[in-house]
Amino acid sequence: MSHDKDMIGHAVDRLADDLERLSHRIHQHPELGYQEVKAAGWLAEFLEAQGLEVARGVAGVDTAFLGTIDNGEGPTIAIMCEYDALPGIGHACGHNVIATAGAGAGAALAAVRDLLPKGRILVVGTPAEEGGGGKVRLIRGGVFRGVDAAMMVHGWDRWIGHQDLLGIVRVGFEFSGKAAHASASPWEGVNALDAVIQTFNAVSMLRQQVRPQARIHGIITHGGAAANIIPEFAAAMFYVRAPRLDDMWVLHKRVIACAEGAARATGTTLKTVEHDNAYEPMKRVQALLDVYRANLLALGPVESPAPSDRLGSSDVGNVSQVLPTIQPLVKIAPEGTPVHSRAFEAAAASPLAREGMVTAAKAMAMTALDLLTDPELLPKIRREFEATR
Ligand SMILES: [Zn+2]
Ligand SMILES: [Zn+2]
Repeated sequence: MSHDKDMIGHAVDRLADDLERLSHRIHQHPELGYQEVKAAGWLAEFLEAQGLEVARGVAGVDTAFLGTIDNGEGPTIAIMCEYDALPGIGHACGHNVIATAGAGAGAALAAVRDLLPKGRILVVGTPAEEGGGGKVRLIRGGVFRGVDAAMMVHGWDRWIGHQDLLGIVRVGFEFSGKAAHASASPWEGVNALDAVIQTFNAVSMLRQQVRPQARIHGIITHGGAAANIIPEFAAAMFYVRAPRLDDMWVLHKRVIACAEGAARATGTTLKTVEHDNAYEPMKRVQALLDVYRANLLALGPVESPAPSDRLGSSDVGNVSQVLPTIQPLVKIAPEGTPVHSRAFEAAAASPLAREGMVTAAKAMAMTALDLLTDPELLPKIRREFEATR
């Protein structure tokens, strides 16, 4: 390992106790998306103390922040932090580890700033990954403009280089009919619940015709007021997911067609409620993954192959569609521990989580160093990014 990388390793080791304390503090005070006031504040304070220039509340998002190491005109590398928790089960997605791995990488780079080639390092605090689409808002707010490559890690039960993510779009359906007594004069009614049930039946048939990795799942949010009233209003919410964006939008249209058909069949009127924070699939950039992997493997971990069936979604997918981005998975829990479980929540504050966080911080900082140092890398990464759809 080069002298500069040794210095990065030592810097993370020196900060490891502080980082672990910060990780545990965030873990012990779980905050939901866009309410991560404490976590964002602690991380910003930490980065400032390490010598980064920190802006709070960027892009009009109160709990977002932007830490900068400005070393002059050159490429810009972003390292992302997440720190939102889940309702009811706290940091069962381990975002406290994502936050401190990112902050640790930024702090280590600040510590070796005199050795760094020209360029800028950004540590981006991205709130509300769990459904709120914080990164979607930061992209729209211009935070990633001019960034050449971005990275973050996510806790998992194994070390994995790249895990595909499904694109996800949410769509709501509101059916309006006409109330009537369900026994005395049912023929006077127009049944909005029938339209919802018809939609579910049509979607169930559609599901047989979709590709294996597509997911369509929904709930009924309004199903009527009383069994003796023909429901005049009923509503449902669907999540539509697919590995490719164009497939996702095609599927989204077909799900809407199911609801339109149901409205036609039942004589109800349909209002489709679109949500504008679709999460996009993760675009794979092998050339960037390779740089990270070389650093990671030099630090000891052994990578596992990515499972093809355990697929979720994240707004880091949106970042990956606008610039070369990686989100490698870091082992912070015993193998077989599923995310969003109580066991994963406990693991996210365990010695294994500390080890994963420290290793990931080093690997990300070393990757950033490589990207700034080797003038061939970023153009190669950019070419691959542009050639990939
Ligand atoms: Zn999660
Ligand atoms: Zn997560």
